Amino acid sequence: MQLSEKALAISPSLTLKITAMAKDMKKRGLDVVGFGAGEPDFDTPKHIKDAAVEALKIGLTKYTPASGTVELKKAVCADLKKHGLQYDPTQIVISNGAKHSLFNVFQAILNPGDEVIVITPYWLTYPELIKMADGVPVYVGAQECNNFEPLAEDIEAAVTKKTKAIIVNNPSNPCGCIYSQKTLEGIAEIAKKHDFFIVSDEIYDELVYDGNKHTSIAALSEDAYGRTILVNGLSKTYAMTGWRIGYTASRADIAKIMGSYQSHATSNPCSIAQFAGIAALTGPRDEVVAMREEFDARRKMMVDIIGKMDGVSCATPMGAFYVMLNISALKGRKLDGAEIKGSVDFAEKLLEKKLTAVIPGAAFGADDFVRLSYAISRENIEKGLGRIAEFIAMLD
Ligand SMILES: *Cc1c(COP(=O)(O)O)cnc(C)c1O
Repeated sequence: MQLSEKALAISPSLTLKITAMAKDMKKRGLDVVGFGAGEPDFDTPKHIKDAAVEALKIGLTKYTPASGTVELKKAVCADLKKHGLQYDPTQIVISNGAKHSLFNVFQAILNPGDEVIVITPYWLTYPELIKMADGVPVYVGAQECNNFEPLAEDIEAAVTKKTKAIIVNNPSNPCGCIYSQKTLEGIAEIAKKHDFFIVSDEIYDELVYDGNKHTSIAALSEDAYGRTILVNGLSKTYAMTGWRIGYTASRADIAKIMGSYQSHATSNPCSIAQFAGIAALTGPRDEVVAMREEFDARRKMMVDIIGKMDGVSCATPMGAFYVMLNISALKGRKLDGAEIKGSVDFAEKLLEKKLTAVIPGAAFGADDFVRLSYAISRENIEKGLGRIAEFIAMLD
């Protein structure tokens, strides 16, 4: 029987192969250092876990409204005020993680053939989510020399009559960059001129360093506010990846569509996780600060060590918890006679020879790079980077 053409067109994750290989090697007792982590390595703060236990005790074990509880929506609205944003609970939809929120967004705004501008290097789920909604991803390259920020003229050149939205991921996974006010203003201006949506994935808004403050593109102007669908969630800030709570903040009419869609697809996100989410958003912030400080220390350590390594380099990341290691100078070099043609060869050979896992940039549309996460211990960072240096020294 013929299976769904749309489902068959979804690419299996390129990162999966390396991650599966690394897991398998670990299982066999090998001492693998994994730079692949896409989630904080910290446990969820205790007061949040306690709230989940409380939710169970008081019997919050039933369906909630499909788009989330009013209490959690109010907590989200109160939290978004930190970015100078005013939302009403009717504008918020709580979903099963920010990834699910993004899925809802594209289902709500795209018609077949609608184009969505995606900045390269991109989070690898974006193109697939767009395709699932019958949309077409259109890629605009951002360069390392521009701090991985897209240029306004490049975005403008990609706009067509079919452009329905642009995705802004600020701070960025995988790049670790944060967009300047000028870049954000440029994007908002083009979106206004050609009348399309801004899908703003701000999941790393609390993970910015060097005294920088996060700017939400929705806060730039009345117009930007109206055309932005803001996506965020609790996974990264509160080390809650397994709890699956994400949300959107948008025009109320779009929120309503997404709420209806969700009501038939999944119903509400877990009632217990929603209750714990209120504790996360309204509770003490000392652990959030402590996690950020630890990420910051690791970030500095990585940039320092990479700066002293031969053959590779990196731009200093300003947000999230990733470093893009530039391996372009190693392309064409050989290991045991076999050429390193790109990031996939590099990642596979590094894992095989030096038991160190990195994510090939090809997965993000950036073959000159591999992504290293610093959501791992300082000890492992030092060990892993040492191994990468040894691996590079083995190349002819
Ligand atoms: C982790 C991540 C998400 C999704 O997180 P959820 O766990 O689904 O809330 C979304 N966007 C980016 C860029 C991410 O790195």
